[in-house]
Amino acid sequence: MYSTLPNLGRTYKNNVVVSYYKLVSLKPTFYPILQTMTDYAELLKQLQLQVDSLQGENLELKRSQRKEIDSRDINDAASEMLRINQLRYRTIFENSLLGNKIIGSDLKILQVNQALVDMLGYQSKNEITGKIIIEFAHPDYAGDWQILQQRLWSKRLPSFNLETRLVKKNGESIWVNVISMLFRDGNDMLGFTTIEDISDRRSEFDVLRMREENFRTITNIIPQQVFTAAPNGKLVFVNKQVCDYLGKTDAEIIQKGWDESIHPEDVEKCRAAWSTSVQSGKDFTIEFRLKNEQDDYRWFLGRATALRNDEDSITLWLGTNTDIQAQKDNEHRKDEFLSIVSHELRTPLTSIKLYNQLSQKNGSPEKQAEFTSKSKSHIIRLERLITDLLDVSRINAGKMTYNIETFDFDKLIKETVDSLQLLNNNHELVVQECDPIEIKGDKHRIEQVLNNLILNAIKYSPDATQVIINSKVISDSIIVSIQDFGIGIKEKDLTRLFDRYYRVDNSSMRFDGLGMGLYISAEILKRHNGSLWIESEPGKGSTFNFLLPINGERNLTVVDTDNKTFYSANFIEVRYNEEKGWLETEWLGYQNLESVKKGCMAILEMVKAAKYTQILNDNTLVRGNWSEAADWGASFWFPALREAGLKQFAWIYSPSAFSRLAADRSVQTDLGDFQTHFFTDKESAEEWLGRQKMFDRV
Ligand code: ADP
Repeated sequence: MYSTLPNLGRTYKNNVVVSYYKLVSLKPTFYPILQTMTDYAELLKQLQLQVDSLQGENLELKRSQRKEIDSRDINDAASEMLRINQLRYRTIFENSLLGNKIIGSDLKILQVNQALVDMLGYQSKNEITGKIIIEFAHPDYAGDWQILQQRLWSKRLPSFNLETRLVKKNGESIWVNVISMLFRDGNDMLGFTTIEDISDRRSEFDVLRMREENFRTITNIIPQQVFTAAPNGKLVFVNKQVCDYLGKTDAEIIQKGWDESIHPEDVEKCRAAWSTSVQSGKDFTIEFRLKNEQDDYRWFLGRATALRNDEDSITLWLGTNTDIQAQKDNEHRKDEFLSIVSHELRTPLTSIKLYNQLSQKNGSPEKQAEFTSKSKSHIIRLERLITDLLDVSRINAGKMTYNIETFDFDKLIKETVDSLQLLNNNHELVVQECDPIEIKGDKHRIEQVLNNLILNAIKYSPDATQVIINSKVISDSIIVSIQDFGIGIKEKDLTRLFDRYYRVDNSSMRFDGLGMGLYISAEILKRHNGSLWIESEPGKGSTFNFLLPINGERNLTVVDTDNKTFYSANFIEVRYNEEKGWLETEWLGYQNLESVKKGCMAILEMVKAAKYTQILNDNTLVRGNWSEAADWGASFWFPALREAGLKQFAWIYSPSAFSRLAADRSVQTDLGDFQTHFFTDKESAEEWLGRQKMFDRV
């Protein structure tokens, strides 16, 4: 109905009716209708209809205009709010101390604040706007950042936070903390990022991390077990040594502690001491036994100290466990030694005292002479014990003195044997060969060696009747051997006999002694450039041999050499085997440390000169002691050979078990790319080298 009415009386603004008051002036607009209506009733009707219609329209207008006013208020308020917020946001965005940027979906920077410009070391915003932030990222860190950005834009992440690095205009890099999120602006999606320069904090963090890494490295190098614990005593860190010893991972140990590996007798005292320290903050020190992976207990000295902060509160316990098994063994041996010494000294003293008393009681000159003679042997024994004790302490202090002179060695042997024979009736001391020779050395000390070895031969062959002594001149040395037919020595004990106070278990119970004689003898021979070695078979007997250079030092003569393919001397032959492609070395006759060192150095020079990678080392003809030589070889020569490029060393043992044991004990068979293998025959050694050559070629 209203559609027939003229569209008058309404004013529109933005398609919304805004005039309400215009209905008042409606009448004049209906004049045309009035003029054409003659019928008053019709007029009224028409008017009524118009009024009704206008009323309806008015109501409608009223309603919609009320709405319009409301929404206009709201719109105004909203735009005001928006304006304020935009101002606020702009102020925050611009004046923030943090770097801010807004990017579009193409990741290009649309807007950036001055803080970010300054942070990156640029002058104006234009230098940055339009670029992608990853262009400013440190190359090592750009990848991670990019991945997070992709996840953010693909809506897999609502936001992200990342510590990363940016590169400044001048090339310097800085650590930054980045927080990014998306927001909607109208129909557009934009990214908002705030960037904080954390270089100062980060460098502190780096220093701390480096310190921690250093701490871990150091603790893994040192032999001790190292641990740290929280102020409440709970383990926080254990080094590699702890893990290796217990055969567990650090996580396992940290979680469960190591109580179950502590000896049951020590566990309570350990717990008590640890909790006392944790409560009092005082240092922790305890000796306890800890079980290793092989289920063997070893003694440890556990120590820990509290680290404190400026407020004196404990921040961490730092502790170590030091293996003191050797110390414990020594203590044990020392105790044992003291009891043996007291026993050894008291026995002859008791006898001497007894003979004195008897001789006082029995006045006859014959009896007195008998008692005096009997007590004499005990006095000699006592004297010898005291001399040995003094000698050991002199050797330890490096104060053993030597009076070098030239003397008749054969005469010394005969005199020593004669005087020992007088005191020992049960054994016949047989001197089989005794080459006449003058030698240079300390006569008294060499006599001491002879005495020790012959008396041992007698002592450790209680059921035998003979001891055989030989002394032969071979080349530049004198070789002495003392053979008995006694209890013999097991292979496992052979190499330890020269250790101070070492006594073979099963014989120490049956025979008197302090375990010093062989140690002193070996020291004396070493100081004469000599050597000492043993051949022995349990139950059959032993032969103790020693070598002494006649002139105090060896006459080691080089016959001919080109220092590259051959070296010919009176103690070694070295030759390059062209067909096989390796160097062959053959040691000849008696060796001591001096000859071994000289030969080894010649070989090393040849390896360096010709870049040999394999050596076939034949010791079949070796005589003498290789013990110290093998030690020297292991610590110096083998590493030097490896350095020079040698790959394989095939070692054919000398027939002497003693030398073999010394070699096994001293030489590490695997030094990474350098290997030493032992053989008893040449064939197998050659086969191994040949095989290795093939592998190397492959
Ligand atoms: P001691 O004889 O006082 O014990 P030594 O140093 O002379 O000390 O000898 C060390 C150990 O070597 C002896 O305890 C013994 O076990 C062993 N030993 C030495 N000589 C012989 C030998 N001829 N036969 C068997 N065992 C020997």
